Amino acid sequence: MAMVLACALSLIVVALAITPVRREEMITFCSLVVCAAICVEAMRRLGTPSGLTRDLLGAWWFPTLLLLPPLYSLIIPIPVYLLLQFRIRRTVLHRRVFNAASVALSGFIASSVFHLALTGDIVGPAGLPVRVGREILITGSGALLAVFCCALFTVLNTLIIAVAVHLSSSDTTWRRLLWDREAVTVDSVEMCVGLTVAILSGLSVVLLLIAVPPVMLLQRSLLYQQLQAAARTDPKTGLLNAATWEREARAEVGRAVHARQSAAVLVIDIDHFKRVNDTYGHLVGDHVLMGVAATLAHQLRQDDMVGRFGGEEFVVLLPGADMAEACRVAERLRSKIGRKVLAVGDHSVVITVSIGVALLRTHGDDLVDLLAAADLALYRAKDAGRDRVCLPAARRCPRARESRQPQLRSRGS
Ligand code: GH3
Ligand code: MG
Ligand code: MG
Repeated sequence: MAMVLACALSLIVVALAITPVRREEMITFCSLVVCAAICVEAMRRLGTPSGLTRDLLGAWWFPTLLLLPPLYSLIIPIPVYLLLQFRIRRTVLHRRVFNAASVALSGFIASSVFHLALTGDIVGPAGLPVRVGREILITGSGALLAVFCCALFTVLNTLIIAVAVHLSSSDTTWRRLLWDREAVTVDSVEMCVGLTVAILSGLSVVLLLIAVPPVMLLQRSLLYQQLQAAARTDPKTGLLNAATWEREARAEVGRAVHARQSAAVLVIDIDHFKRVNDTYGHLVGDHVLMGVAATLAHQLRQDDMVGRFGGEEFVVLLPGADMAEACRVAERLRSKIGRKVLAVGDHSVVITVSIGVALLRTHGDDLVDLLAAADLALYRAKDAGRDRVCLPAARRCPRARESRQPQLRSRGS
């Protein structure tokens, strides 16, 4: 993070020294900042979900990088991110600073490429060479170059953020960080909107007036969608929260009963989790919870429903699973989690889980009965020594290996 920030700051100093200040450019820059500020204020009314949020601020970054010298791309995130921090949500300051520095660096590089690539051979509609800047976007080759540079900005910004997230939490896979269909869709929309705004403001800054309302509307619908998603998920682990899991699992169990299909519920509890907290502190405990959640999400199929039920307890609904399948999945989860060494700061923590399994019709006819039966099975697993999978009755799920004792150890100890 320090490197990204240092790069951005030193580039600002150099760019300030070599970029002449022109009145026309200053007017465009200030107009874009004002438009961005209006959109930020509009977000404030709706509220923003915590955690990673997608926005449409690219609508203002793209015109800046295409119409103005690279210096302006370096400085436009400063007022906008200050507003975000103090008017919208006071989040961890270093994260805001890092995001702003990432936008600044990506914008600067994309803008430099755009301006350096423009040469006299780009011709306007009348076959005459056009000036760098305003008219360039309405020529075929200029527009193509603009699309390329906007895409370059998006790729660079995504890469910088992905590296930072991966460094702070190695549980998040590169694929998840770099390829998310929803994020790609939003990025594409952002690019189209940004290019349109750039063309409009290139024609006349006054035309920004008609760009603001549609951008605001798009931003609001995007935020609304994210608020809805946030209301469904547990903020710490990103899994479904208890209320949503229960509601959706009840509907799925009802559907399975109706269609005479099988289904199974697993209740998963981390063994001796209190010891993790007592030994390493709650922050490490939280990272362990996130690691377990990531393993669960990674190991289960799209149709399986996994949620955090509370504390260090997770629940899974396996639609269509019979006894053998449910035990096989539970055993795989137990062994994957138990085998994984979670690196948290200077510590490496190994934990185990106990899992209770209950089958639709065999152990209950609705979700309440299934949860009660799986809970009973979980207690049996705890009583029998933990780190195992159990059914509610005397039968025990088959398992591949003998139980290991849960262990906590520090790197180097
Ligand atoms: P057992 O094997 O019997 O399940 O023992 P346990 O220590 O895992 O269970 P217990 O119920 O005694 O302790 C659960 C602990 O989980 C206590 C609580 O502080 C901790 N916990 C619950 N929610 C969170 C959380 O969000 N973060 C962290 N770090 N700890 C949590
Ligand atoms: Mg526990
Ligand atoms: Mg518990």
